Amino acid sequence: MTVRVRFAPSPTGYLHMGGARTALFCWLFARQHRGTFILRIEDTDAERSTWEMTQGILDGLAWLGLDWDEGPYLQSEGIPLHREAALSLLEKGLAYRCFATPEQLEIQRHQEQAKGGQWRFDPFSRHLSRAESDRLAAEGRPFVVRFRVPDDARVRFVDHVYGEQERTAKDIEDIALLRPDGTPLYNLSVVVDDIRMRITHIIRGQDHLINTFKQVLLYQGLGAPLPEFAHLPLILAPGKAKLSKRAHGEVVAVTTYKQRGFLPGAFRNFLALLGWAPGDDREILSTEEMIQLFDLDAINRANAVFNFTEGDPENWTDSKALWMNGVYLTRTPIDELLPHVERTLKDAGLWDEAWAGPERERFAATVDLIRQRYHSLLDFAGRGRPYFSEDYAFEPEAVEKNLAEPRLRAWLPMLAERLVAVDPWVHEGVEQAIRGLAEELGVKAGVLINAARTACTGQKVGPGLFELLVVLGRDRVASRLRRAVSRLPL
Ligand code: GLU
Repeated sequence: MTVRVRFAPSPTGYLHMGGARTALFCWLFARQHRGTFILRIEDTDAERSTWEMTQGILDGLAWLGLDWDEGPYLQSEGIPLHREAALSLLEKGLAYRCFATPEQLEIQRHQEQAKGGQWRFDPFSRHLSRAESDRLAAEGRPFVVRFRVPDDARVRFVDHVYGEQERTAKDIEDIALLRPDGTPLYNLSVVVDDIRMRITHIIRGQDHLINTFKQVLLYQGLGAPLPEFAHLPLILAPGKAKLSKRAHGEVVAVTTYKQRGFLPGAFRNFLALLGWAPGDDREILSTEEMIQLFDLDAINRANAVFNFTEGDPENWTDSKALWMNGVYLTRTPIDELLPHVERTLKDAGLWDEAWAGPERERFAATVDLIRQRYHSLLDFAGRGRPYFSEDYAFEPEAVEKNLAEPRLRAWLPMLAERLVAVDPWVHEGVEQAIRGLAEELGVKAGVLINAARTACTGQKVGPGLFELLVVLGRDRVASRLRRAVSRLPL
């Protein structure tokens, strides 16, 4: 059997954490089995579906690196087939026309609830003879086509995550297939599409578990073999509240993570661990490892909790996600990382074309040096700004601590002069020049080292000073040391 899975988002909203994780799990499963990953856009709710949302979902999947093998199919293209399937069920007597008006259904529902039960069908329509039903339809009476849940129905299936599931007819209402205007409803469309697309495994959110009982009956009615099912637990907000755009804002949307400087690989790794684990303590998993180890049966039945911190915008996201992004920033092969940094610097207006040409090597060395402490790509344009621009800020604290010594007024230009003479411009030479001058002046090397750091970056902490000066380059270092004199106390 060739595995065929689908991700079937409705384009009535953006790609959120839950949808992205569903897509990722479908993709991992397909790749593991060398199967087919299909993208189907469920746009049958024409009023609420928009092209922008579809585009946003496609962009989000592309950013996450979840490439699909077939599609995107539009569910709306299959409407004639959905209708045909409903009519075949009607023809076989497995479905019937339900003539009850919405008001009548409402009354029936109330009556059943008062008796402690649930509404299951409109008794009048369900027991109409075929001839009577045809006559009312010919009169132009509006009707919904409903699937007749057999009175002795006992629906069973084994969910890969939630285990054995069973319901009997008394808990399943007759299934609406077509609206009075002939348009198909969700349970019908999804089953007809999954059958014709030969889907073998349905992996989707737990909110659909309840629909599956109905869908199993439709598979049986349409004479199609059942796929396997895996329903994924919810992703909750801290405190186990439901994660929602209204309550939690942008943290719910996948695009936020792109904007916040996440590497797609890091975010993919983070998402995979929301509800699944490889069975050991490993948390950093390459995509190949995830594909190899992924297991539908190892998905945790308990809801996953996404522990982002609300409030402080600098600290708004899950610290684990940021930690993971930091690990990816340091471990990603530098050539793979550079295009991401390039994009970040371009977005911040800090890009210099020379870094793509003659200065490529120095650019790579700079990124490699400063990335050790970063958690987001945005850090390259933020804390990393002095490495890419002459227009950088001086932290008052750093100036106060490292540029307080008045004699630096003489020492900084002297240091500049010594450094200009260093050849070749490498760590050892730079270090010797600084330590040598400190000795001559009779001051601790630390005084010159700290002063040079703040003069050249405006900062108090950062990478090792000698490496830092090397990547900045001789000329820039000399001019920054001279310029910093203006910041010294008189
Ligand atoms: N279109 C449905 C949704 O976005 C998913 C349907 C399914 O996976 O069966 O919730």
